[in-house]
Amino acid sequence: MRLEQQYFFVSASLHDAIRVFYPGQDKPDLTTFPDKIVFQLNDTHPVIGIPELMRILIDEYGYDWDTAWSITTKTFNYTCHTLLPEALEVWPASLIGELLPRHLEIIEKINAQFEAELKAKGVAADTIKDMAIYTGDAVRMAYLATYGGSHVNGVAELHSQLLKDVTLKNFSDVYPDKFTNVTNGVTPRRFVKLANPRLSDLITEGLGTDKWVSDLELLKGLEPLAADDEFVKKFAAVKKANKHAFVGFAKDHYGIDIDENTLFNTMVKRLHEYKRQSLKILAVISTYADIKSGKVKAEDITPRTVFFGAKAAPGYYLAKMTIELINNVSRVISSDSAVKGKLAVHMLPNYNVEMAQNLIPATELDEQISQAGKEASGTGNMKFALNGALTVGTLDGANVEIRERVGADNFFLFGMTVDEVEAQYANGYDPAKYYEADPRLKQAIDLVADGTFSNGDRNAYSPLVADWLTKDWFMTLADFSAYMGIQSEIEALYADELEWNRKAVLNVANSGYFSSDRSMEDYLDRIWHTGPLA
Ligand SMILES: *Cc1c(COP(=O)(O)O)cnc(C)c1O
Repeated sequence: MRLEQQYFFVSASLHDAIRVFYPGQDKPDLTTFPDKIVFQLNDTHPVIGIPELMRILIDEYGYDWDTAWSITTKTFNYTCHTLLPEALEVWPASLIGELLPRHLEIIEKINAQFEAELKAKGVAADTIKDMAIYTGDAVRMAYLATYGGSHVNGVAELHSQLLKDVTLKNFSDVYPDKFTNVTNGVTPRRFVKLANPRLSDLITEGLGTDKWVSDLELLKGLEPLAADDEFVKKFAAVKKANKHAFVGFAKDHYGIDIDENTLFNTMVKRLHEYKRQSLKILAVISTYADIKSGKVKAEDITPRTVFFGAKAAPGYYLAKMTIELINNVSRVISSDSAVKGKLAVHMLPNYNVEMAQNLIPATELDEQISQAGKEASGTGNMKFALNGALTVGTLDGANVEIRERVGADNFFLFGMTVDEVEAQYANGYDPAKYYEADPRLKQAIDLVADGTFSNGDRNAYSPLVADWLTKDWFMTLADFSAYMGIQSEIEALYADELEWNRKAVLNVANSGYFSSDRSMEDYLDRIWHTGPLA
């Protein structure tokens, strides 16, 4: 059904483009097709469009193979959205052959032409094998897209570099000029103006114009105002008002009571092991244990409310179990009077754009804590920075560029780098070593294992615990100590309200680059080679 859907939409789009650009023409000159339109393949899902356009040109319009190929490669480009090899679609050739036999024939011919081209370029035989578009029963859609289009881009500088160095290295060696970067962005209309009217009014007041809404780099004009205590206090008041508003929203929508005089700390994104919601919940459990045991003195506690929001794919067992764990930690903590007013956790259901628009403007600290080298870009990170949250994060995806722009002093960096992660894989990573080495980590995992969050049932989370202790592919345990370490820095800064908000203003002022308008300009400039409509 998935392949049927992909084919249906792609075929309809191609036929529609021909209908629109060559109206009423029985014998259109489709050699001009790429001058009229380009298709930006948004991930691997529409890549079946490449053989479909070949089929249309050859079978429906009578072009020879070489002419059809020249039109097709000029028509398509490919945006890659991941670094996880398992997320790049590989279709069984037998399935394609059953549903789309002509397309499989064309893919076979594309692959033969590709292999001949590589051979002619002097590429080694075993490398040619590794690069096969169609091999055994597998059709690799990312490879088809890379060969069948003019440009390939990643969605953040680090991601595009890793595509060239790792994921598509063989292709970048042979076709270096195909590869480019377009860092993602978010629309300021939705994620600032609509989501955060109070901040929007303050920005307009500070800049003396509302033109920033369509020219987000103008936010840079706020930078001097970070030194103006009166402006920073106004910014702090906006954040307070947004927190108050979210408390009302949460009461209405979820029936929960939130203490607005706490640090609002948010982790909202799809649930995936590489994003490491596990790291955050283990840290919460550790903090809970320390408060409860009296290990942290009452006067040293920064009261915090931790918000999670996350959906998981229905068949993703460990992800669903992580959601259940967060819910149960939330339940246990909220019914424990020993931590009342000091720590609360909420797993907000049904994370979607409406919730994002309400929660992000109210957030003071956001979590971007994926394992380095796994988050292609992230866009949540951009929404938070533009709404004046400070970020605790790893050197991953667009975090790298956000930190460069807002300044290292205004970003809470922690954790391993891509190179350190690779070294760990190479040396045979052993998570149990980290469990034994950090008593806080050991205690947190033991509390999950001993039934504290499952009414005494010691088996409830054993798949999760076993994964942490024996596999932990995304190295949550290895980064735990560094993550706990940076919390004291975060809390010390939070105690100084003016300085915290000064840094938040600097985040807003220096995040104008992360507008989707700038992303589109980069696509026009680097890939589509045209300008915007006047
Ligand atoms: C922005 C957004 C995302 C992406 O968040 P990341 O932190 O970049 O993974 C996912 N879901 C919703 C509803 C969003 O608004």
